[in-house]
Amino acid sequence: MYDVAIVGGGPSGSYVAYKLAAMGYAVVVLEQKEKLGERVCCTGIISQECVESFAIDNNVILRQVNSARFFSPSGRLLRLWRQESQACIVDRAAFDVAVANRAQGKGAEYVLNCSVKDIESKDDRVNIEAILFGERLDFESRVVVIATGFGSKLSEGLGLGKASDFVIGTQAQVETIGVDEVEVFFGQEIAPGFFAWLVPISQSKALVGLLSRRSPGLYLKKLLSALLAEGKIASTEAELIYGGIPLKPLARTCSQRLIVVGDAAGQVKPTTGGGIYYGLLCADIAANTLHRALENDNLSIKGLVSYERQWRRKLGQELKIDYYARKFFERLSDRHTDRIFDIIESNGIDKALLKAEDLSFDWHGEAVLRLMGHRALSKALKTMKIPFHLGERG
Ligand SMILES: Cc1cc2nc3c(=O)[nH]c(=O)nc-3n(C[C@H](O)[C@H](O)[C@H](O)COP(=O)(O)OP(=O)(O)OC[C@H]3O[C@@H](n4cnc5c(N)ncnc54)[C@H](O)[C@@H]3O)c2cc1C
Repeated sequence: MYDVAIVGGGPSGSYVAYKLAAMGYAVVVLEQKEKLGERVCCTGIISQECVESFAIDNNVILRQVNSARFFSPSGRLLRLWRQESQACIVDRAAFDVAVANRAQGKGAEYVLNCSVKDIESKDDRVNIEAILFGERLDFESRVVVIATGFGSKLSEGLGLGKASDFVIGTQAQVETIGVDEVEVFFGQEIAPGFFAWLVPISQSKALVGLLSRRSPGLYLKKLLSALLAEGKIASTEAELIYGGIPLKPLARTCSQRLIVVGDAAGQVKPTTGGGIYYGLLCADIAANTLHRALENDNLSIKGLVSYERQWRRKLGQELKIDYYARKFFERLSDRHTDRIFDIIESNGIDKALLKAEDLSFDWHGEAVLRLMGHRALSKALKTMKIPFHLGERG
């Protein structure tokens, strides 16, 4: 019997595997893909803070980012720039392989082509039913970690609920002409309620993508045509890859002999849909909680609930503010967004935010509150009659 079975070999699952294998536990990772990192729909932008906190391998980093150009619906431009690098873009497939290699280096076993169909938590073990190359295969472990990303039915089947709000993202890799800065586009005709991006990953290649609650593929094809017409990309011929993003966490992320982590738990920034860093932070908390629970042989809900408490203490308030900011943003018309761009620029709010050293790429809550609290902006929002409520805070 394994000590820990982890379902899903994405960054969150592999990081839990790495930490627990390094502590000497018998760990198995069950991954349905044939190859780790295969067909991942992700831009791979992570902050400098994430790179440093998790010692991300230099050789998976494609480039550093210290600026971005934001376009309003009518084409107004705000350029944000800081001297030092704020984020970097990782090769997402190589990144997934690198985290898994670390786990394997510490002794974690990986079973690929292995799709988990059912999990049953018993008093003294967990039974896991999987399909490997069409054949049923059963695993036993003392505890299981669900790290299946967005959309898996496993946690729902175990009574932990499902993502109550989500968005679909789509992305394509294209050849570019002279694009060397990240570009972000807003507008109801571009990515209604969300945003689109053009992220150069090398001298001649970029990822173009967007998030939308409806018809993301149609919007992306339209954007590709517009970028071609502007001479930014060489062709619209590109394969579109899709992925879901949870915008709210699960109501519960642990129960007896079971923990849910990463996108599967909804540990994602609702403002941008970025989930790599929050997933890794929660994977770290999960591994430490599991270590104590395995050591004390207390894998009951009482033994695991400190995982839930700790990750909510770290991210809960942030996720709540970001979610309200997201809902607020979705109510804005193009005219409102243009007006907000104007106010930010004419009042130097962008420059003030950039100067504030405590505002960072990963923690948006404080930036949202300061932005909304700015006199010029809050006055304008009142005239637009768009309330920004934080609901119940806590
Ligand atoms: C368009 C788009 C762009 C994005 N860009 C960024 C970005 O720039 N920066 C950022 O931080 N985040 C970004 N994200 C989000 C990011 O991709 C996720 O937050 C991240 O992948 C979550 O990692 P994870 O390990 O929790 O889940 P995943 O990476 O989804 O890994 C889950 C794994 O579980 C496996 N699995 C699922 N079900 C089973 C099963 N039943 N049995 C066995 N295996 C199973 C899957 O095959 C998969 O390999 C983006 C998402 C989208 C859609």
